[in-house]
Amino acid sequence: MRLKLKFEFRITLIYLLIGFLWILFSDRLLELVTSNPVNLTHLQTYKGWFYVLITGLLLYYFIKRHLIKLRTAEQKAKESDRLKTLFIQNISHEIRTPMNGIIGFSELLKNPDIDDEQRAKYINLLSKSSDQLLSIVNGLLDISLIESGSQKINSREFSLNAIMDDLYETTRPVIKKDVLFSVKKGLHGADSVIIADDVRIKQILDNLLNNANKYIEKGEIAFGYKLKGADIEFFVKDTGIGIDRKNQEKVFDRFYKADPEGDRLFEGLGLGLSICKALASLLGGRIWLESEPGKGSVFYFTIPYVPVIKKYSRKARSRQKENIPDDMTILVADDDEPSLKYIKEILDNKGIHVITVSNGLDAVKTCRKNKISVILLDLKMPGLSGFDAIKQIRTICPDIPAIAQTAYAMSMDREEAISAGFDDYLAKPFTKEQLIETILKYKKN
Ligand code: ADP
Repeated sequence: MRLKLKFEFRITLIYLLIGFLWILFSDRLLELVTSNPVNLTHLQTYKGWFYVLITGLLLYYFIKRHLIKLRTAEQKAKESDRLKTLFIQNISHEIRTPMNGIIGFSELLKNPDIDDEQRAKYINLLSKSSDQLLSIVNGLLDISLIESGSQKINSREFSLNAIMDDLYETTRPVIKKDVLFSVKKGLHGADSVIIADDVRIKQILDNLLNNANKYIEKGEIAFGYKLKGADIEFFVKDTGIGIDRKNQEKVFDRFYKADPEGDRLFEGLGLGLSICKALASLLGGRIWLESEPGKGSVFYFTIPYVPVIKKYSRKARSRQKENIPDDMTILVADDDEPSLKYIKEILDNKGIHVITVSNGLDAVKTCRKNKISVILLDLKMPGLSGFDAIKQIRTICPDIPAIAQTAYAMSMDREEAISAGFDDYLAKPFTKEQLIETILKYKKN
């Protein structure tokens, strides 16, 4: 390892070294020039002046260079401080808005005199605010993962057309009522079974569709893909407000919002498109847009086309078809009581038998004593964590399908959970549909 001395030591050492060499050699030089003691005294004086001048200049040069370095660092720190403050102000505003809704409508719901219609309205608004809050937290998490370079791509085989249909079905209910919504699929059958990261593709499309729906009042939104050369080119088109030319590049920058001046202010942190851009490049493609103010926008992104030419099995999809089991017993372990109640409520309503426990040790004990169909374990529990519990459970019953659930929604958690012995993974918060769908995957036919 290279030894790096502090600036003050370095400068003092150099000063002493130059002084030492100067004294050592300059007297010898003078003796070569003259041996007259009077002349020698004069020359000694000049020599002294010369030494002071040279070391003075050198000191000035080194100290200035060092100070410039310090001042630049100081300025950078100040700028990053300013951005941090801006960032925090921006976030706290964006978080406060949905929080306001959540707190406000929860309070209103406490009133026993409200009628069913009002109650349904409040619940709807409450859930909208929660979704908004969740998307902010997810956006921040994504950006921080991308910044730290920890965002990974997990490629697997899947049907692109099934993903497009799923997206169409889940997005349709939230599309504004005066907007026509359609999907176009550019490949058929086995050609549309590809190898890529379906989660990330969905995430980009979901973001673009959300934007399309946010910046439109009436008209049309269409999305889809087609094969273009060696790539798949996705598009999300809207006939909304559009983006003017000067903002078209900038919208992909972090925190950039191109809301038209004087018009209504749209909510959002300005993170969505920068996440899409980072994800598209991680997927090996690029993202761009075409837009005309007042007419609408088309966002495009590409990924390499890696087909798996084989007959696409319909088994997996048909497995997910709603078919409520009455002979299933699910073991749910979670130390957070509201989470436990939420899961129990959903499963009870579906007629699924549920056993709830609040720690890992009880989960292991329950597995020993009962016939369990599927286990749902929280990863972070006091005492025996989900990771430790699954190891012990695997020694008792190696074949029970086990699903990990956690609030740490990072992709490495999924991998860690799978390699620890889990079969699947659910990131909190999950919807009723996600929970049921995941559990039904493991229903024995
Ligand atoms: P957010 O939507 O949270 O503000 P984004 O990064 O998703 O952040 O978008 C950045 C900006 O790009 C938005 O603030 C908006 O001005 C503009 N924009 C994005 N999509 C569209 C669209 N489909 N139509 C018009 N403007 C858009």
